[in-house]
Formats: sequence, structure tokens, C-alpha cells
Amino acid sequence: MARIVAISNQKGGVGKTTTTVNLAAALAMRERKVLVVDVDAQGNASSGLGFPLGSITAGLYDLLMGELDFDAVLTKTENQRLHLIPASRDLSGAETELAIQPDRAAQLRRLLSLLNEQRENYDDILIDCPPSLGMLTINALVASDSVLIPLQAEYFAMEGLGELLRTIAHVRKGPNPKLEREGILITMTDQRNNLCREVEEQARKLFGNGVLTTVIPRNVRLGEAPSFGKSIVDYDPRSIGAQAYLDLADELLRRRQEAGIETKRAV
Ligand code: ATP
Ligand code: MG
Repeated sequence: MARIVAISNQKGGVGKTTTTVNLAAALAMRERKVLVVDVDAQGNASSGLGFPLGSITAGLYDLLMGELDFDAVLTKTENQRLHLIPASRDLSGAETELAIQPDRAAQLRRLLSLLNEQRENYDDILIDCPPSLGMLTINALVASDSVLIPLQAEYFAMEGLGELLRTIAHVRKGPNPKLEREGILITMTDQRNNLCREVEEQARKLFGNGVLTTVIPRNVRLGEAPSFGKSIVDYDPRSIGAQAYLDLADELLRRRQEAGIETKRAV
């Protein structure tokens, strides 16, 4: 039974998509079957997996609006353990369309029920959220078991984190009481840089065990990989970026096992 994890932070450019794509590939390396759902109209996760917006004819929008079914939008990537529900250009209009739906409560549960139906087909479902707390992100949070929060090791990192945590709390009080925190992930860090170390220390002081032990270093290879439509473990498996995402996958699996939530399933 797949666990559904939203990768979310309304702050732009903090490593959400890089984490979604590379954690997905790292989990696939660990023999897990993974589905990536691209909920961001920018379509970065889709292009990072080899499907740039221009090449996509059907995607999440069609699924959310009930125009196509799951199989019609499911996209197989080069990696046979990794599937994708791509974003498509029209997804940018979905934010407004979802907000004015007459039956918003039912609409909110649509992504949830669509993904629930897929739980048995995957070990992990990762949702790449857009840099906002709009309707698409709320849809993703309602559909998820947990939220993984990338936190960029830089000066304004903590700014906006309160708002995100409040949004998560609201979703828990309302439509999705079971929503958990998968953890806060420090991204783009440089251990030689005082500021990066300070941000990490501050986060660990505030959130303790809620901050994952694994940190993602700044690594040029991670920045290059998407332009080849490849994850880091395919593009440069020996890079420190690839190692970091494999460590992240292992840590998440270990934490879940310790918490008794991991259901082992042979692929
Ligand atoms: P958005 O809010 O626009 O969706 P995002 O949070 O998804 O952005 P990414 O697209 O993952 O952020 O990363 C922003 C930029 O930083 C990208 O160009 C990406 O390649 C680069 N990047 C992300 N993580 C790293 C890293 N660890 N090392 C080097 N470059 C990185
Ligand atoms: Mg992104």
C-alpha cells in the first residue's frame, strides 16, 4: 500500500521539484514502485523526468476535471519502476476553476479518491506542489498521508514556514485529520558556509527530530540533471547529490519502519 507524500513549501525555488524527482528515482533504485504526480503548472517535475510541457497532451488537469481517467494520463518514464502523472499547460487555469467549483468539498476529495485507487499499484506516491498555498496545494494536502518540507539553507528560510505549518494544521482540523509531517529537509546546503550551518542549527533547535538527519548539499550535478530529463541517479550516480537522495530514501524508509507504517512489499 503506497504512502502518499506531498512535497510542499509555498516559497519558490527551495528544492521541491529536485527532491520529488530524485527521491522518486532513489526509491525506485531501492526496488520500489513509485508514482510522481506533478501538481505544478510549471511542469518542472514532468520535464525533469523527460516530459517537457510542450510534449504533454493529457495530464493532471484532465484527471481533476473528470475528462480523462487515470490510465489515459498515466505516463511511463524510462525507468520502469517510475510512473508520472504529468502537469499540462491548462493546469494553470485549474487554480481558479477549483476555487469556483459549486461543490468544492467533493472536488477537494477528487485527487484523494483518484490516488487512493492507485495505492495498491505503488509503494510510494510523491506529489510535487507548486510554490503557493492555493487550491492545487490544498488538493494535494487533502490527498496525502504526510508532507515533506524542503527548507533551503539560506537567510530567509524560516520565513513563511509558520504559514505553511498553519495551513497543514487547518487541513488536519478539516478535511484530512490524518495528515502527518514526513519531515523537514534541509536543501542546497554548504557545510563550509556559516549561514547554512546556522539555518540548520536553528531548524534542529526548533523542530528537533522533525528535521531529517539527511541534508541535501548544493551540487551542480543536481542542477544539470533536469536539462537532460534525467534524475541524478541516472545522470551521475556517483555524485554527492545522488548519494544524498539515496540517503534520504533510506532514512525515510527506516523512519517509517520504526514508526510501524512501512508495509514491505516485494516488487
Ligand atoms: P518552484 O517553487 O519554482 O517549484 P522548487 O522549490 O521546485 O521551485 P527546484 O526547482 O527544485 O525548486 O530548485 C530550484 C533551482 O535550484 C533549480 O534550478 C534546481 O536545479 C536548483 N537546485 C535545487 N536543489 C539543488 C541542489 N541541491 N544543488 C544545486 N542546485 C539545486
Ligand atoms: Mg518546483
